[in-house]
Amino acid sequence: MAPAISATTAEQLTAIIDSVPTAVIMADQGGAIVLANLQAQRLFGYSSAELLGESIDMLVPQSLRAQHRELRAHFARDPRERPMGKGRDLIGLRKDGTDIPIEIGLNPVTTAEGVFVVSAIVDISERKRLEARFRATIESAPIAMLMIDQAGAIVLVNAELERLFGYDRGELLGRKVEVLMPGRFGAAHPGLRSQYLGSPEARRMGAGRDLFGLRKDGSEFPVEVGLNPVRTDEGQLVISAIADISEREQTKTLRLAVEALERSNLELQRFAHVASHDLQTPMRSIASFVELLGIRYADKLDAQAQDWIRRVVESVKQLQTLVDDLLEYARVDSPAQRFEPVPLRDVFAHAVLLLDATVRETGAELSCGELPVVMGARSQLVQLLLNLIGNALKYRGADPPRVHVFAEREGDQWRFAVRDNGIGIAARHHERIFEMFQRLHDQGEYPGTGIGLAVCRHVVQRHGGRIWVESEPGRGSVFFFTIAEGP
Ligand code: ADP
Repeated sequence: MAPAISATTAEQLTAIIDSVPTAVIMADQGGAIVLANLQAQRLFGYSSAELLGESIDMLVPQSLRAQHRELRAHFARDPRERPMGKGRDLIGLRKDGTDIPIEIGLNPVTTAEGVFVVSAIVDISERKRLEARFRATIESAPIAMLMIDQAGAIVLVNAELERLFGYDRGELLGRKVEVLMPGRFGAAHPGLRSQYLGSPEARRMGAGRDLFGLRKDGSEFPVEVGLNPVRTDEGQLVISAIADISEREQTKTLRLAVEALERSNLELQRFAHVASHDLQTPMRSIASFVELLGIRYADKLDAQAQDWIRRVVESVKQLQTLVDDLLEYARVDSPAQRFEPVPLRDVFAHAVLLLDATVRETGAELSCGELPVVMGARSQLVQLLLNLIGNALKYRGADPPRVHVFAEREGDQWRFAVRDNGIGIAARHHERIFEMFQRLHDQGEYPGTGIGLAVCRHVVQRHGGRIWVESEPGRGSVFFFTIAEGP
């Protein structure tokens, strides 16, 4: 088939278009190639002679020819400058049978010989390769990522994002990004989005504000979001990376709680310190001066006044015990308490020594089984046994008190028991007696402050163990506590 333009025209045009760095092919309205510049010959692997007069179809893969013809007919109906098959992937076919991804710009050219179509063809393999690499990088990123267009529509999501939000990508592509945030953020977001597009730069989103993501199942989780603008042929896109910070938040909350606890413990210690000096000194003088009054005016005071004085002294002494106990409670946390291997046998002996007077007075019998060595703070452990054995003597029944302390192994811990034959405790009180200021028995008969067992629990918890009681009224009590074994 002869070229449909004159030789001169062809020659002049060829000289011009050969100098263009883009592949250019001119075809007549029937699709016959009338011109192919050097770049086009190189791109498709044909010589000019092999192309001229042939149908442009030879440069289109078999499977796409029908579609290509349609595009050509479409252009012929309305010939004006525009890209071919916008939004579609165009593929060229080389002489060696390989495919090349291409982009085509179409231009009608009217000559003396009629209207021709000039196609400028750009090889976009490299761009495609980069794009594929970009997608692969995003896809495999260990953090949830998505890309949105200027209208806020999601154009790309990665596997991690699907996992984090519980969606399949098919459900997200094309939808507005607001679908991934709770309603209360969604309303303001389009505004913020266009603000961002006004001055796009890589930065954190909503700095200083608490951001949340919304899963498909409706649950929310705290997030941190990084934004990054990307310029593409399709305009300004934005990539965001979304980190689930629930765990970090939990750790933060926990840390804040621990800090608050530590602060309140410090407060308590400070209070106890103040209590010990500022309260105990005047208390001591009240007690001794009132006692002195009683002695000095013994002959002048009637029985009633003597009784009042006795009560004042007793109350003040009771108050002193309370302050001492509070001080003890606070001391458990003091940083001075170092853990070391402590033989519980010695601790028992120490407590018995301190209780000597009461033991004599009550005719009590104190005994112990074999006791192990544990890691602990010695003075706290003495306090623990002192309180438990002391209570066993204090809350005694009709018989002389018998108290036995023994230990049994329980996994990698030791379980200790302090058993008495005292008045016992009703089951409904078994929990609350370990709280501050809980007193079950009549004050007159058994004076106490209700702090002793709270101190015990505090000490045991400090040693990583727990404390509980098994008891029934009239049948004695066994107080148990666990402590990890020593080295
Ligand atoms: P308190 O200073 O009153 O002894 P605790 O905290 O040591 O305070 O004990 C709380 C309450 O538990 C006591 O008031 C008493 O009623 C009861 N209790 C403690 N130990 C025993 C025991 N071994 N037998 C019977 N009751 C006990």
